[in-house]
Amino acid sequence: MKETRKVVPGEEVAEVEEYIPAEGTYEEDGKVLAALYGELELDTEEKTAVVRAKNPMTNLHLGDLVFCTVSDVRASMAICEVISVEGKKRELTGDTNGTIHVSKMSAEYVQDATREMRPSDIIRAKVIQVRPSIQLTTAGPHLGVIKALCRKCRRPLVRVDKGLYCNNCERPDYRKLSDDYAAVEF
Ligand SMILES: [Zn+2]
Repeated sequence: MKETRKVVPGEEVAEVEEYIPAEGTYEEDGKVLAALYGELELDTEEKTAVVRAKNPMTNLHLGDLVFCTVSDVRASMAICEVISVEGKKRELTGDTNGTIHVSKMSAEYVQDATREMRPSDIIRAKVIQVRPSIQLTTAGPHLGVIKALCRKCRRPLVRVDKGLYCNNCERPDYRKLSDDYAAVEF
C-alpha cells in the first residue's frame, strides 16, 4: 500500500523507526525529512519514504542569476519561487521552487536564516543546482534581498548604512542585502 501527499523541503515525513529514508529524503534527529518539493510515497511494505520531484523539467541552468520571491523561511533554509532569469527573456517552465540552505545565504556564517530573509522579499540568487531540486545561493555582494517590505505596515524598507529602516514605523530592520538593494528592475 502506498500513501501519497505533496511535501516541501525540510518537512517531516516519517519517523526513522518506521520508514527508511530513500530517494528524495534524508534523516535528521530520528526523523525522515523531505529533501525536495514533490510527492511523498510511504511504502508500507518496503518501509521506504520516497519523495519524487513534482516537475523536474525546469529549464534553469547552473550559474543563472535569478529573481525570486521568498515564500517561506525556516532556521535552516529559505524557500522561494523563481520569477525570472536576469537579463534573459527565457520563459520559465517546470519546477520553479528553489531552496537556499542557511550555509549558502552569505559569505559570512549565518546561524538563523529567518534573520536574513522574510516571506515576500524579492531576492537575486544564483543557481547552484538544478536537479533533483533547484538549489540557490545568495552568498556574494551582488546577491541577496533587493526589495523588502516592513512587516508591520507593508511599505518598502529603505537602506540605511548596512541595515534597513521603515520611515513610517521609525523602526530598523535587517536582511542579507544585495549591493543594489531597491535599485533593481526585475
Ligand atoms: Zn513600517
